[in-house]
Amino acid sequence: MNKVWACLCAGDILLRREGADGAFSLPVGEEPPVPLRPWNRVTTLATLPAVPSPATPAFSATAPATPAFSATAPASATAPASATAAVPDSSPSGSLQVVRLDRPVTGVEGFEMMNLRASFDVLSAEEYALAGKAAELIYWDQNSKFCGCCGAPMKFETEISKRCTNCGKELWPQLATAVIVRVTRYSVPGKSSVPGQGSVPGQGSVPSSKSCVPGQGSVPSSKSSEPGRDSVLGGLSPEEVLLVRAHNFRGPHYGLVAGFVETGETLEEAVRREVREETGIEIANIRYFGSQPWPYPCGLMVGFTADYVSGDIRLQRSELSAGDWFTRDQLPPIPGKASIARRLIDDWLEQR
Ligand SMILES: [Zn+2]
Repeated sequence: MNKVWACLCAGDILLRREGADGAFSLPVGEEPPVPLRPWNRVTTLATLPAVPSPATPAFSATAPATPAFSATAPASATAPASATAAVPDSSPSGSLQVVRLDRPVTGVEGFEMMNLRASFDVLSAEEYALAGKAAELIYWDQNSKFCGCCGAPMKFETEISKRCTNCGKELWPQLATAVIVRVTRYSVPGKSSVPGQGSVPGQGSVPSSKSCVPGQGSVPSSKSSEPGRDSVLGGLSPEEVLLVRAHNFRGPHYGLVAGFVETGETLEEAVRREVREETGIEIANIRYFGSQPWPYPCGLMVGFTADYVSGDIRLQRSELSAGDWFTRDQLPPIPGKASIARRLIDDWLEQR
């Protein structure tokens, strides 16, 4: 069985250079790619998970074979017997070895330390996902040395769980769940458009004031039932998207409204609250788009789309430095391809 090594140090991962064309991979081999110290714990995850490409839409039937996909495939005597049969040859297979290095590796022929975010551009989607998983596990290990109840040391019980040596409290890695939403609208000079009113999930019907979209009248609610799709009026997708710049963005790009889910809140409530808090905008037709592990350091981003209903932009200045409606032809710099924000924006761009 192959051993795939994810060796990390302070947010960087050790990669093997594949020739001179800029390709990299996770090191593979029975032995670690660099000598380890006795205290370097190696976490072995016995089975590599099937990892669909982040670039693949959540509901696409063209995703790499997964158990769910196989189950819906037509019965055939020649169908692949296992879910792994259709995984491309380039996919890593075997076990994942997770190691936290004490110091960065330098001067080793054929190897290079690279920032985890930057590794998205040079690794396959499957390997980037494994690298992220390793980073999250290391972060969790470093931040769960002692019991939160009694303060005694925690001890590994399985490869991904710990138990308190005093009170027995069990601990598993925890995710910080965040929502991110693409809000779009039809541009109507001087007036806001209200696509899809009356179909707000769980809200009952909204009294329908006159639609402001010229010549469209009311919009059948069934139009907005497709997962992750904007309401479509007369075959046209919304012309404008709401983009914002948070103070903590690195670089000049704009992104989508996003924020952490609060205790006791549904995902949909978090979406509505974040948009309202950050921009003063009211939205409707909140629809699931897809999700993405976000190992910076332990996040799960859950993506949604929503329709603009009302309100003028009033930025939450403590969080945002800028924000506005943008058309496809006048977009500012947008996030890199590693993010679900970019997938959401690209999906809207392709609806033109
Ligand atoms: Zn304890």
